[in-house]
Amino acid sequence: RELTVELGERSYPIYIGQGIINQIVAYFDRAKLSRKSPLLIVTDETVAPLHLERVLTLLREGGFAVTACVVPAGETSKSLAQLEGIITAALQAGLDRSSAILALGGGVVGDLAGFAAASFMRGVRFVQIPTTILAHDSSVGGKVAVNHPMAKNIIGAFHQPELVLFDIELLLTLPPREVKAGLSEVIKHGLIWDAEFTQWCADHADELLDLDPDALSYALYIGCKVKSIVVSQDERENDLRAILNLGHTIGHALEAVAGYGELLHGEAIAIGMVGAAKLAQQFGYGEEIHKVTKDMFQKYGLPVRIPAHLDTDSIMSAMTHDKKFKEGTMVYIIPTEIGKVEIRKDVTVHQVREIVELLKEES
Ligand code: NAD
Ligand code: ZN
Repeated sequence: RELTVELGERSYPIYIGQGIINQIVAYFDRAKLSRKSPLLIVTDETVAPLHLERVLTLLREGGFAVTACVVPAGETSKSLAQLEGIITAALQAGLDRSSAILALGGGVVGDLAGFAAASFMRGVRFVQIPTTILAHDSSVGGKVAVNHPMAKNIIGAFHQPELVLFDIELLLTLPPREVKAGLSEVIKHGLIWDAEFTQWCADHADELLDLDPDALSYALYIGCKVKSIVVSQDERENDLRAILNLGHTIGHALEAVAGYGELLHGEAIAIGMVGAAKLAQQFGYGEEIHKVTKDMFQKYGLPVRIPAHLDTDSIMSAMTHDKKFKEGTMVYIIPTEIGKVEIRKDVTVHQVREIVELLKEES
């Protein structure tokens, strides 16, 4: 499967399929990547032993000069220290302005390698080879960043890749918990944009959880497609792009309070989406949305309630430090029906607090 993210001269293709990594050289030739300039692969310590050798070999056999820089796995690698390490590796490997930096990994590697590509020599070419389901989201849209100890994703840029090569064979090594968490973001794309796909997700949970190749490539295709439509219409997050934040207001706060690792991003936003559906009820949108949302996440083995030990005050203060907060009301994405959301600016902090309390009781 193939689709294009339409961004004028920065448009780029996304290829999704089983075993397509074997054609990496042909894809690189199509994208006109130069064999005269060295390439640098960024990956992490978990992905490297599983998939790095194969990619290095394919590229070297195809005549590309390529080296790899391996960072520790996990969110803490999205740091200025790791960025410096990548720049060092890029200089040692002799990268020039026509070189490309390749991200082979999940969203952490994608964001880090992407920011390295955006900043090295004021910007070199960038290729995404996602290895997590969640990375269908992070690899489309061009947002790249590292974290500061005080704030996530605060040092970043917009830097679109040349291409995204999404081989579902690389996903087969994912631990089940990462599979579920990644699917949470796929389901989100249905909930904000596509009622039919939402129903499809409800009907195909078993296949997706088993990583069935046909189901998975279809789901990733639709997920990438929804994201790319939204991003094409609003590259810089002026308005529409905000709808991608469904479930993220509460989700980000839960991740911060629980400590990264206890709740995965996909798990936190599943809870957040159930919360948004509850809020929709308070705005008079009927209980169907809440039922569908909650049933869906339960079917996928994702959490739908806030762990009782997380303190409401801490969650609220994590949320109100969030940039989406302004003077007593917050910008909030709520579903109005399945497959549609609205950006509301009149949700009060008090209302959100009530939802947080209710989410602790959700069974
Ligand atoms: P991740 O990159 O940390 O990957 C999750 C875990 O799975 C890691 O331990 C990793 O080593 C391991 N892993 C990756 N691929 C594997 C494979 N094929 N087999 C076995 N293990 C594998 O995290 P993620 O969930 O992919 O991404 C989360 C990050 O993405 C966050 O930092 C978030 O901020 C970012 N993100 C960015 C955007 C964006 O628009 N740029 C959007 C969403 C999320
Ligand atoms: Zn997300």
